[in-house]
Amino acid sequence: MSENCLERMQRIDGKRKIADFIVKQKQDYSFKVRYATIRAREFERECETRGLNCHVSVGGLDSITLFLFLKSIGINLPGISVSYLEDASIQKIHKQFGIERLQSAIKPDGTHWNKAQIIQEFGFPVLSKEIAGKIETLTNPTEKNKTVRHAIITGETGAYGGFQKNSRMKMSKKWLEKFGGYANEEEGTDYQIPDFKVSSKCCYYLKEKPCDDWAREHNSVPFLGLMASEGGRRAKSLMINGCNYFGKSAIRSAPFAIFNRQDLLQLALDLNVPVPEIYGTIERKEDGTLYTTKAQRTGCSMCGFGIHLEKRPHRFDQLKERNPKEWHFWMYECCTDENGEKYGWARVLDYIGVGY
Ligand code: SF4
Repeated sequence: MSENCLERMQRIDGKRKIADFIVKQKQDYSFKVRYATIRAREFERECETRGLNCHVSVGGLDSITLFLFLKSIGINLPGISVSYLEDASIQKIHKQFGIERLQSAIKPDGTHWNKAQIIQEFGFPVLSKEIAGKIETLTNPTEKNKTVRHAIITGETGAYGGFQKNSRMKMSKKWLEKFGGYANEEEGTDYQIPDFKVSSKCCYYLKEKPCDDWAREHNSVPFLGLMASEGGRRAKSLMINGCNYFGKSAIRSAPFAIFNRQDLLQLALDLNVPVPEIYGTIERKEDGTLYTTKAQRTGCSMCGFGIHLEKRPHRFDQLKERNPKEWHFWMYECCTDENGEKYGWARVLDYIGVGY
């Protein structure tokens, strides 16, 4: 029988790797910068040996800082970005540094996907990438994803997951109530089904695929500005795989993996990184903590990932303030349902109980 995920953790010595990683995360700033320098140089050398090129995947402040950090240690690489998705002030910095601007992935008809088309076709990116992916799996039942669907509803993982009873695959009760209805018949449950689709495809078509395609065409592998401390889907794999990963299907370097927000902001100050206007400026509180005076993090303005966790004025409120016309389009007009009625994020936010 094939190995389950618990056996895999044991084989790769996952627990020890995570413990080692946490020790490094607790080191001081200068250790972490030295460590990032060593790892980045190591990655570049290894790629050279393997005949691979490298590039930097650039988005907001974290990866702009990475791009300039690599330059500061003599690693001069091309930067790529699906820049038009970012705030205008970030795009300005991208232009300043000659970052190559990519377009979204191409549709079967030869034109490029835009966000409204993706939402119409596949569904809204809401809650989190992980949860949206699970809901999407529930809406597209196949024989192959049967075990996964069962695990999403019940937490029972079957053979692959080591017969766990309450695994993390299970969606939380709150969201099961709202989105678990697709599996009612199979599971004998009585959950609801929304009158809109949910999907995690938006990031894939707008960001991931264009970058992956560029990388393939240029025989190149990326440096990424990821930090495990920011949590999310990739935190655990960063902790297990460390800064540099040479896997079968993915090769990447994340020299800032052990950094936290403070380290990143300190490095941005040390390197005189031009801070895009949307973040304001980097300042120090009385207790020494660094912070950005405006946005702490950025991303696409009308994205529902994490929206349920934000305090008001949340990012949709902020867009309303900045650009009421654009806000109106996304809230009420970006999609058309089967009755020909226009709708948008307002329907989604009502359903998940987020005010606007
Ligand atoms: S961050 Fe959100 S809106 Fe932006 S590409 Fe990803 S899913 Fe789409």
